[in-house]
Amino acid sequence: MNRLIRGGAIVTCDGNHRVLAGDVAIVGSSIVAIGPDAASRLPPPFEIVDATGCIVMPGLVQTHVHLVQALFRGMAEDVPLLTWLEQRIWPFEAAHDEASLKTSAELGLVEMLRAGTTAIMDMGTTHGHDVVLDACERSGIRAVSGKALMDRGDTVPKKLRENTKASLREAERLAKHWAGRGNGRIQYGFCPRFILTCSEELIRGAVGLADDLGQFLHTHASEHADERKAVEALLGGSDIMLLDGWGFRGDRAVLAHCVQITADEMAHLAIAKTNIAHCPSANLKLGSGIAPVAALRKAGVNVGLGGDGAPCNNNLDPWLEMRHAALLAKIKSGIASLSARDVVRMATIDGAKVLGIDRVAGSLEVGKRADVVVVDIMGAHVAPAADLMATLVYGTRATDVRHVFIDGERVVENGVVQTLDGERIAATARSEAIRIGKAAGVL
Ligand SMILES: [Zn+2]
Repeated sequence: MNRLIRGGAIVTCDGNHRVLAGDVAIVGSSIVAIGPDAASRLPPPFEIVDATGCIVMPGLVQTHVHLVQALFRGMAEDVPLLTWLEQRIWPFEAAHDEASLKTSAELGLVEMLRAGTTAIMDMGTTHGHDVVLDACERSGIRAVSGKALMDRGDTVPKKLRENTKASLREAERLAKHWAGRGNGRIQYGFCPRFILTCSEELIRGAVGLADDLGQFLHTHASEHADERKAVEALLGGSDIMLLDGWGFRGDRAVLAHCVQITADEMAHLAIAKTNIAHCPSANLKLGSGIAPVAALRKAGVNVGLGGDGAPCNNNLDPWLEMRHAALLAKIKSGIASLSARDVVRMATIDGAKVLGIDRVAGSLEVGKRADVVVVDIMGAHVAPAADLMATLVYGTRATDVRHVFIDGERVVENGVVQTLDGERIAATARSEAIRIGKAAGVL
């Protein structure tokens, strides 16, 4: 169906970061015109979407999430990273079966779509990942998603600790089956979990497969100081440089966190074009520290934002990540080190670069896919919305998102997700979380 999104303030996030008054015209899955005379470029019949009193902007991109952990929200509180993994998250993940994986993935997707997230970089657990990719495809979201790869670590539960070759074989099968599905919206990410749970052979194998299949690499790196010390003790170096040396680098590679990164490592990643996913809420909740985002951007590293997992956040809300990223940069690097405009770009076009979709999404431009979010700015909590970038970063809430379109299809209408049954999923989540918590021996 053709659509005219009429009468909003259009935050394009294009190269000049233009803000325009007028309409956005969509034919099928593509934007065909933007601005005051856009309607004249639209062949009838078309649906009119009223955006009076709204910002119309590109869909938000979350560059590091775990759909499989959405079910464990509020069940892993007040412990640091390595304890959080060993005593909570890994036992939960080991207990996951197909029914709980489906509920968890759907729960995360409903939360993110409803908040205006149109694209994600997702890391699963070791098993059952077809269920997660299937949920992504049904939801209509753009996703780079893959199973976690783990073949070492004394504290890793047996069910999650894989044989190296079998782990790579399963990832290759998933990539070949799923990449390109959903009209190209689904792509595959090879996800060695983090260097302490992966052998060099496993990581080099993932690098080889991602290269051969033209897909992505996604891992965690230098999140917490204790983790960095453990890596140094075990492998005699920093995870960032070891990964780089094993080929985990380049514009299709994503390192989540990098809170502990050094200036030399920043310069190195900038040259290699390796991306970073900044997850400020998760870094705060696990007490990991504040990533030097302003310095990373200054060094030329592309940085996206992400909610990480529900148990370390406890939301998958891109607006909270934008607000936290902006506020923490002021403490870390100075009051003017990261502007609201910078943060809006991190959440849209820079995130799209991380997912390799910046030529088709991440900004509102003629010829791009219609991944569009309509945000109500008439609420008392944002009025008078005099500065649009500040409104988006500091004031907007997920519940202000009115409509969301992906590839021109409406996935959220008046705040209700259209592609998944949010009410049924939230009701199921409670009983599933209790069932899996008991099976994991945590509840
Ligand atoms: Zn993570």
